[in-house]
Amino acid sequence: MNYISLMEEKLDRELFEHCLGTAKAAAELAERYGVDSEKAYLAGIVHDYAKSLSGQKLLELADRLQVPLDPITRQQHKLLHAPVGAVLLEKELGISDPDILKAVAFHTTGHDGMSTFEKVLYLADYIEENRQFEGVEEIRKAAKSDLDLALLTAVDRAIQSILDRYLMLHPNSVAFRNSLLKKLADENKL
Ligand code: FE
Ligand code: FE
Repeated sequence: MNYISLMEEKLDRELFEHCLGTAKAAAELAERYGVDSEKAYLAGIVHDYAKSLSGQKLLELADRLQVPLDPITRQQHKLLHAPVGAVLLEKELGISDPDILKAVAFHTTGHDGMSTFEKVLYLADYIEENRQFEGVEEIRKAAKSDLDLALLTAVDRAIQSILDRYLMLHPNSVAFRNSLLKKLADENKL
């Protein structure tokens, strides 16, 4: 299956460009940090498969496909496209690779003890070439030398933005941050 043209048809231009950028960044990070870069490219291409669906539609799908959702994900519609998207990738596109499905399912919140592959997608989504925000260059630079340090900066910024907008913070994001802090402290990097 040609996932690139499939996504190009499914998504609007901006979101499609974001997926291409994420794929490219994910492949680069994968290469650097020793995980399968072709697989990372594919994960990047498809990671926002469900992003253009409405919150209502995503909830309907989650219920129909019996995707287990915690109450915060249920309320925060922005979070839904990740776990529901992962299930749709499996059911609609036949993607069965567990690394890809898990990385997609957790690309918005992260979780405790993310694998390197999952981290690569999370960070790629954050720093891909179309992203423009104050400080993105610093994170891009950090991403070239230390995956976890770069992620800590990205996660902190993501959490801060959730706080600034009075949105509910998902406990998995806190768990992800704590696990990064612990790993970095154990490695004397903080
Ligand atoms: Fe997303
Ligand atoms: Fe994305």
